[in-house]
Amino acid sequence: MIIDRGRVAAALPGYALGAELGSGAFGLVLAGEHRRMRRPVAIKVMRANGLDDLAVTFDSEARALGGLDHPHIVRAYDYLEVHGLCLVIMELLPGGTLTHRRATLNPQQSCAVALAVAAALDHAHTRGILHRDIKPDNILFAADGTVKVTDFGVAKIFEGSAASASGLAGTPQYMAPEQIMAGHLGPATDLYALGIVLYQLLTGYPPFNPQQPVQALWHQHLNSPPPPPAGVPDPVAQVVLRSLAKNPTDRSASAAAFAAELAQAVTDAYGPGWAGRTGLPLHLPDPGRRALHLPPPAAITPPRSGAGSESTLPTDAPSVLLSPPAPRRGLRRLLAAGAATLTLAIITTLLLVITSAHHPPATLSATPSTTPSTTPSAGPRSEPSAIDPQPLGQPFTGHTGGVWAMAFSSDGRTLATASGDRTARLWNITDPAHPQALGQPLTGHTDGVTWLAISPDGRTLATTSLDDTARLWNITDPAHPQALGQPLTGHTDDVNSVAFSPDGRTLATGATDSTARLWNITDPAHPQALGQPLGHPGGVCSVAFSPDGRTLATGATDSTARLWNITDPAHPQALGQPLTGHLDVVNSVAFSPDGRTLATASVDDTARLWNIIDPAHPEALGQPLTGHTADVWTVAFSPDGRTLATASSDKTARLWNITDPAHPQALGQPLTGHTAEVYLALFSPDGRTLATASNDKTVRLWKIR
Ligand code: ADP
Ligand code: MG
Repeated sequence: MIIDRGRVAAALPGYALGAELGSGAFGLVLAGEHRRMRRPVAIKVMRANGLDDLAVTFDSEARALGGLDHPHIVRAYDYLEVHGLCLVIMELLPGGTLTHRRATLNPQQSCAVALAVAAALDHAHTRGILHRDIKPDNILFAADGTVKVTDFGVAKIFEGSAASASGLAGTPQYMAPEQIMAGHLGPATDLYALGIVLYQLLTGYPPFNPQQPVQALWHQHLNSPPPPPAGVPDPVAQVVLRSLAKNPTDRSASAAAFAAELAQAVTDAYGPGWAGRTGLPLHLPDPGRRALHLPPPAAITPPRSGAGSESTLPTDAPSVLLSPPAPRRGLRRLLAAGAATLTLAIITTLLLVITSAHHPPATLSATPSTTPSTTPSAGPRSEPSAIDPQPLGQPFTGHTGGVWAMAFSSDGRTLATASGDRTARLWNITDPAHPQALGQPLTGHTDGVTWLAISPDGRTLATTSLDDTARLWNITDPAHPQALGQPLTGHTDDVNSVAFSPDGRTLATGATDSTARLWNITDPAHPQALGQPLGHPGGVCSVAFSPDGRTLATGATDSTARLWNITDPAHPQALGQPLTGHLDVVNSVAFSPDGRTLATASVDDTARLWNIIDPAHPEALGQPLTGHTADVWTVAFSPDGRTLATASSDKTARLWNITDPAHPQALGQPLTGHTAEVYLALFSPDGRTLATASNDKTVRLWKIR
């Protein structure tokens, strides 16, 4: 397409135009500089002629692009339609394209590039935007080597213009089967393309020969298994091959999940610290403390944009932005601002975790912290520790993935554990110094098991999963657990949390689809959905019943907790205002045994206590509990309600004296020993044992008195 430089200059009097940086199928890219600001820019120019009907699309798309703000995405500064030209003014990326750099990258650098692209994709996906043209030409480098994804949505603007532009829907070499078949596109479509890129980076050649006729190439994308990538360490090869699955639902559930899997695989293959050696900056969107967030366990999985076949994105939509008439699900996700923060945090943390793997946990300080609310006289050591947890036996589990959740049976004899390895396990902990595995792992979930709960009568186990379902198991004989009935379906995204009502007749589930649901499980083999889902402005990370069973608490990605009157569980009613104060995702909610206090844990590194004696008028109690140096994943009360346990990404658990909940006091030293994020710290029903579960795949038991 011929574009007159003079017209561009006339359209952009504020800019001096420079060299042509590249040209594509529908325009060209020029270097430029803002005359006054002296800011170097790249100007992508496209002709709007004949595309008049697209003005609205451009407009909404431009807003979408403007809404993307991520260190691994090219920054768009401005968008104009002048004199028949569409102009995108963006950050100048002088480091060239991945196409040019490809040959110089070693395997670890190649993986770092893929992680950066995954971070960028997740940022976009959680905002309802698909890239749809991931390829080395659209992955550029900033001057300092930072990977930047470009062409976001722009190609799609044009694709929406007319049938004749459909050839721009992707680049054949990188097109996923569903893209070739014009099926439902979703985040998994971009992951497929990223998988091809990574395959190519690692092996030097793409899985399918791009020289063959397009029809033959497409046939291979649709039907031929990619050859195993030669010379690539097995764990990494597995991640690459998974992203190249023909069926989008067989790929990673989200770009964040892909990043987590890839990061783990590369660490398995090359050892910790590899990312730091790549020399490729892995930038954090929110530098500093926040950077130390961790990968997703259970209650805390980021919203994922409808992967694979679940996607509701129409392929022929005028825009990849989920703007009206986009599905409600996408809209909710767009509203769930906190969720995106978390997602990014997860990825960036992973990178940090990897790069800083040799650093000791930041909490190995000798001085236990106290909350700011303690009186000046209450110095760090003035509160004698009534609790001095001692490790009981060895760490255990046998899980092959991080331990994401845990529950004690009410008689304290059984511990259930849930893992990213897609299984749950039962343990006889009658002698807590010698836990015994009970029976076989519980299999059935097709993705990580995010949470679990044991019914008050100890006969039923409930599990939830990233596979969007909950399951019930008969554990009357814990050595021979039996799946009960069919999985509970209805949620349309990761189910993050589950709880039994105190009378055992109702089950609550919370999911990334921004709902909590209640189920009548009077007959646990035939659970029935109760009433309408409880709608949330954010993904639901955690659900809990009050001890009297009349109130449900939810914690969500919108940084709030909420209380619901469920006296009639078929007609739950929101109670009062949301509990606001946390600065980031509320990962966990827990009621004190007397039901008068609610505890919350957040990605903002704190826990909080709330007076909920009148649940319609909850009040924040004292100051946030500070001391953890990274996300707090869960809060749990001791059975006597006098102690709170918190678990954090900083690899520690902490205990707090909350006898006076308005003045919580740190108790003793943080519990150290876990080598990765601690996701839970739970008291046994008799209050004598604390169990901690970690992403290091183990559970530890501690004698606390
Ligand atoms: P197309 O998809 O039509 O090729 P792109 O947006 O990918 O359009 O841009 C084409 C080429 O222009 C890129 O491959 C790259 O070489 C160059 N380019 C694009 N954006 C920038 C930028 N921000 N900074 C520097 N060069 C760029
Ligand atoms: Mg391009």
